[in-house]
Amino acid sequence: MSEEAGIVILGAGQAGGEVASELRKLGYTGRVTMIGDEPHLPYRRPPLSKAYFAGTVSAEELYVIPATSLVKAGIEFIGGVRVTHIDREHKQVSLDDGRSIAYHKLVIATGGRARPLTLEGANRPNVFLLRTIDDIERIRALAKPGARMVIIGGGFIGLETAAVALKLGLQVTVLEGLPRVLARVTIPEVSTFFERAHRDAGVDLRTGAQVAALEGDELVTHVHLTDGSRIEADIVVAGIGLIANTELAESAGLVVDNGVLVDEYACTSDPDIVAAGDCTNHPSEYLGRRIRLESVPNAIEQGKVAANSLMGNKIPYRSVPWFWSDQYDLKLQVVGICSGFDEFVVRGNLNEPSCRSFAVFYFKDGHLLSVDAVNRPQEFMLSKKLVAERARLNPAALADDSVPFKTLVTTAKA
Ligand code: FAD
Repeated sequence: MSEEAGIVILGAGQAGGEVASELRKLGYTGRVTMIGDEPHLPYRRPPLSKAYFAGTVSAEELYVIPATSLVKAGIEFIGGVRVTHIDREHKQVSLDDGRSIAYHKLVIATGGRARPLTLEGANRPNVFLLRTIDDIERIRALAKPGARMVIIGGGFIGLETAAVALKLGLQVTVLEGLPRVLARVTIPEVSTFFERAHRDAGVDLRTGAQVAALEGDELVTHVHLTDGSRIEADIVVAGIGLIANTELAESAGLVVDNGVLVDEYACTSDPDIVAAGDCTNHPSEYLGRRIRLESVPNAIEQGKVAANSLMGNKIPYRSVPWFWSDQYDLKLQVVGICSGFDEFVVRGNLNEPSCRSFAVFYFKDGHLLSVDAVNRPQEFMLSKKLVAERARLNPAALADDSVPFKTLVTTAKA
């Protein structure tokens, strides 16, 4: 047991790292201990399916806090060790190396893990999930030019991985079980745009594709679909979603419902425990309901709110969700969540085969609900504020791409 019971952070990811550094920025001088089951310092995961897979950035460049800054800030990092139990009565946590660490305040930032494939053969050594630096290292070892990669899942991670794999010279197949890619996050028109971009680039993209089995002896050699087709595979990568790591919180008796339940101050049902990031379910003022988000902006902003709560500063978490995805030369930036819209307006010609830039504006009752922007950074930046204000824009003027967006913004009404 440690001498001083300070703040203990469970999970050394984006949110955990943010809480630790924010605590120091806010002037906290007590002990801060961050415990993570990965051997790495807290790192940014978005480049894993982008620049890190492409080999253009190093692992160190992904670190949220460089090792020297961590030491300088006096943040203790215990890596490669799993927290197995939270004892709220005695205010201590147990680690899988036999240690116990006392806390004065606890932060739960345990994120999530990639949803595993439940197919037989999924445990073969050439079948991978994609969540960690170590996952990418293993994939990269096999991702040689000419190798056949079959990606199961046409969500952001699957599509980003496909774009990079193609650039690395692999033959790429993407299998999406639903009738279209990105079906949970956008409209059919935008899905069609991304499907076309991938097919034009050379991906064999199949929608409505149900995987029946992974075939092969020591290694998977074929992916068998329910329609009878068999696809040759040297590498299989699954990007089929995330399971929030809430088991520790749940077994400690905290309220959990699709994430650790927190209020707008990132406080859990225990006054000595806050939580932040992918593992939480928070009330969203923007949506008027609770939500569990899986994004870097959420981990960072909620992490800051959690650190403030630990310092006694009550700052509510009120951000509008936003997200991005990079595929080829296409940067998709999304602000807000488009579910529940009753009208949408497209700027740019989405149906034109050469189209590489457009934005879709979603409205509810005449107010701007969310925006999907591809290669339109200025429209995205201005839209962040407009979505937060639920602004009204003139749909007819908006649809005319020759009218500069800036001029529309000045006439927008809240
Ligand atoms: P995590 O980063 O998952 O960190 C939690 C850490 O806690 C992990 O290291 C976990 O192993 C550890 N842990 C869990 N349980 C224990 C335990 N019992 N003991 C010790 N340690 C434990 N978001 C975007 O906004 N834009 C993007 O473009 C984007 N791209 C992505 C691409 C990929 C390939 C992936 C995987 C994610 C991407 N995301 C993106 C999502 C984003 O990375 C996550 O939302 C973010 O990492 C969440 O941070 P977190 O700290 O909550 O969780």
